[in-house]
Amino acid sequence: MAEVTLKDVRKVYKSQNEEVLAVKDLSLEIRDGEFMCFLGPSGCGKTSTLRMIVGLEEITNGEIYIGDRIVNDLTPQERNVAMSFETYALYTHLTVKENLLFPLKARGLNKSDQQRRLRKVVDMLEIKDILDRSPSSLSGGQQQRVSLGRALIRQPDVFLLDEPLSHLDVSLRISTRSRIKRLHNQLSTTMIYVTHDQLEAISLADRIAVMNFAELQQVGTREELLDRPKNIFVADFIGEPPINFVNCKLDKNDDKFVLRFKNSHYTIELPEKLEKVIKKEYIEDVILGIRPHDILFREKKGYVGLENGTVEIFEFLGEENHVTVNIGGESITVVTDAKDYFKEGEKVDLYLSQDKIHLFDPE
Ligand code: ADP
Ligand code: MG
Repeated sequence: MAEVTLKDVRKVYKSQNEEVLAVKDLSLEIRDGEFMCFLGPSGCGKTSTLRMIVGLEEITNGEIYIGDRIVNDLTPQERNVAMSFETYALYTHLTVKENLLFPLKARGLNKSDQQRRLRKVVDMLEIKDILDRSPSSLSGGQQQRVSLGRALIRQPDVFLLDEPLSHLDVSLRISTRSRIKRLHNQLSTTMIYVTHDQLEAISLADRIAVMNFAELQQVGTREELLDRPKNIFVADFIGEPPINFVNCKLDKNDDKFVLRFKNSHYTIELPEKLEKVIKKEYIEDVILGIRPHDILFREKKGYVGLENGTVEIFEFLGEENHVTVNIGGESITVVTDAKDYFKEGEKVDLYLSQDKIHLFDPE
């Protein structure tokens, strides 16, 4: 077990005539035993970061520590970090059992220790009945379990997983996701899990590091990222259904600050709390962000009213319903309880939770 520390880590790929900046000055601490997710769209530098931690890719700049050792110049074997790949990377000419034992034989571990470790991962991953099979005869889900097993059998200090569910179908994805969570609970090994799927990150991680265009955007728990997103990218990338954005201009009515929708001049009075924020750094153009879960149809203390809306779309989804309301020329989605029904065309008022109104600088 160990913590992993990245200090100003940079990765530049150089080819004959171009340079690609894949990871830009990334600083991040992953705690001992933590389940950390790297989340971001394709191409943002997630895999490059994992490959630098495991030692498969040279670090252009900066330092990586595992525990208190700088590992920049250590070989992958010396780092005691294991990685399970998106493509499984199993040896097709070996049986499942031989694949699992391969990393142990390579290290010259004695036979009885090999068998003891084998039994442990076989039990954990429930793969006893496929030990003599060839990987090419297995289903995707079985191959994925063997790939996890081959990484775990090394008893690494840190376990890295690169999009482990991306080639599985939906039902297997859900069961494998809970298996990975269970493995983490049993082993309490530091895990770094890469995904572009926010739901995976939200359901698994202790903390999530959100990346975009080679840069870290924000690190935090799911609550922190949902309730206090640092910028529009994070606000938009996390949360289901996605956050509502409205382009506004900040204005004054008598002495009170108001937000004026850019499209329609519809105005909202700003709650005092937000006025204080705004007075400090007066900005003209702002983007109002409000999550569909933070809006009510009934008045409540601590909520700001938006009157005269019309229901555009009502989606009955079983556990909760999605209602899209046109208000001041903007479509705003609201999540309600399953028992709340609305008719399309119905007149409604919306109430936004003051504490959950986000104001962003248009970038
Ligand atoms: P992610 O895993 O988030 O999809 P990657 O780390 O694979 O992102 O890639 C980050 C960027 O680096 C992308 O622009 C990608 O095209 C580029 N890249 C990745 N590997 C190489 C490589 N071996 N040579 C050149 N460019 C690369
Ligand atoms: Mg990748």
